[in-house]
This record gives sequence, C-alpha cells and structure tokens, in this order.
Amino acid sequence: MQNRLRFNGSDPKKSIPLLCQEYDTCYSTIIDKIFSGITQTIVKCGKCKHESVTCNPFMTQSLQHKPTLVKCLADHYNENALDDYYTCENCHKKTKAKVRHMLVKLPKVLIFHIKRFDSSFRKIEKMTTFGASLDMAQFCMPDADPEIRGNTQYELFAITVHHGTLSGGHYVAFARRGAHWYNFNDEYFQRSSETQALKQQAYLLFYRQVE
Ligand SMILES: [Zn+2]
Repeated sequence: MQNRLRFNGSDPKKSIPLLCQEYDTCYSTIIDKIFSGITQTIVKCGKCKHESVTCNPFMTQSLQHKPTLVKCLADHYNENALDDYYTCENCHKKTKAKVRHMLVKLPKVLIFHIKRFDSSFRKIEKMTTFGASLDMAQFCMPDADPEIRGNTQYELFAITVHHGTLSGGHYVAFARRGAHWYNFNDEYFQRSSETQALKQQAYLLFYRQVE
C-alpha cells in the first residue's frame, strides 16, 4: 500500500504558498481539485492576546441559518467567541478565546450547507435568500495572492431542497445546464427557471467559480 503524504496545515512557520503546494501534493484527486479550498483560522487568547494560526482545508461550508446567504457568510467569517474554554499555546491558561476564519484558496466549486435543524432538532423553515452570482472577496484574506486565492466571482448552478421534517423527508434538486434551469425529483425532471430556482428554501447551494 502506498504511503500517503500528510498535510500539516498547522505549521505556522510555513508560508501559505508552500502550504497550498503541500496540500495539492497530498490531495491530488479530481475531487480535491474541484471542491477543496483552504481557510486560515486565527484563535486569539483572551488573556495574553497570543494568536494561534492554522490553515485548514474544507470541501463544504456549514452555515448557521440567517435571512440571506451573505449574512450567513458574514456570521461565519466574522470574529466570533469560541463556545468552549481554550488552552493557549503561549500562556498555557484556559481562556475565552476569539476565532476568525479567512479564505486563502478558493475552490472551483463552493458548496454551502445551510443548517436547517436547530438544537432541539426542529426544522428551520425560514428562507435564506441567495443570488445567481456571488463575490467572495470580502471573506478572503486581505493580502492573499490572487494567483493562489483564485477568482472571487461565482455563479449559482445547483440547489438541493429538503421537503418534510427530520424524521421523514424528501430531497429535490434544481440545476442549470447552459441557459436553462431544470427541476429534478427522483426519476422525473422538468424545465424550470432561474426565478423559480431563486425562490427555493435551499439546503445545499452549489456555486462555481467564473473562469
Ligand atoms: Zn495566552
């Protein structure tokens, strides 16, 4: 059996270009090339203010439900307090820390998962509005190398919708081919429209990078 190389995204001494190169070597499948991106995560100690920096690959972004996709993303990428106590690598104390994620490498296809089940397992039926196009620039590291980061412009091409409850439900999909949208429901499909697609209570959203 071939030994797999290990991606060490947690080494803060390594530069981002080197980490991205290392990641591409470790994970070189077609799936990685299409769906994987890299975020930089900074955890700031509440006591000594030391910042712990790591780089982490991702394939989907799970987002808390908000009225719009941009608000979901702002909530995810803004500085947030960590729920649990954090042991600082510098002062070794248990503290309340703050965490911030920033994108350093964008994937060709971005998949967003809108969390539709709350802590008491009730389904959130409210809409999250989203657009046919999306600019990810404000969620990227400000000084990211555009060559590594990639184009920040995306276009919507598919949506998964969940009907029903947690205990019983059904998934349907909307997908675009060329200029036309289609609605897929098990073995049936029919022509739809962008207007119809944008009205859906989305569970998964698929955006592709504009070439
Ligand atoms: Zn500390």
